[in-house]
Amino acid sequence: MLRELMYGNTRTYLIKGSKGTLLVDTDWAGTLPQFFKAIKQEKMTLDAIDYLLISHYHPDHMGLAQDLMDLGIQLVVMDVQKDFIHQSDYIFGKEGNRNFKPIDDEAVYLLSCANSRSFLADLGIAGEIIHTPGHSEDSVSLVLDSGEAVVGDLYPLEQVLLYDNPLLTKTWNILLSRKLKMVYYAHPLPEDVSHWQSFEEYMADVE
Ligand SMILES: [Zn+2]
Repeated sequence: MLRELMYGNTRTYLIKGSKGTLLVDTDWAGTLPQFFKAIKQEKMTLDAIDYLLISHYHPDHMGLAQDLMDLGIQLVVMDVQKDFIHQSDYIFGKEGNRNFKPIDDEAVYLLSCANSRSFLADLGIAGEIIHTPGHSEDSVSLVLDSGEAVVGDLYPLEQVLLYDNPLLTKTWNILLSRKLKMVYYAHPLPEDVSHWQSFEEYMADVE
């Protein structure tokens, strides 16, 4: 089951499996009280959240990562992300954000995309975590077998031509080939993409 948990400017998502819960993304450093308020509204407690996955390490997605780790939530860093987990540290430094805690590299759980299906299965979640570059090199998406995908800041289909980035088109083709139903973005509203199985099909529909 997928639930939106928005307590700032980023749509974050809770994926509840039969054996555990995964949170995808956080908001900016300093939003911990808002986060607590949001999970209370969900009638959840912190110990119900087992893992945190960050779609990519931009500051409005990873700001609370170390705070949540300190509270017992395990951060899962994908193999394609490991060189990027400190890329936003300087932004919080520049704004003098005293709430920000850099991620403790020793405490992260490193996972390869190839092993993501069995990792998720242990939580009772059927799906995969795949590398979806285009917005950033370290972007990953959670793709559920039920046809939902949590894609972080991936640029929506309607913007693909604007960016003219072959990597972005390729990412969308990989995602659409999985017969998706709904795409859950970190900022725009969720989008029904069930009509298209490739970017070319989408473009053919654009008159
Ligand atoms: Zn971003």
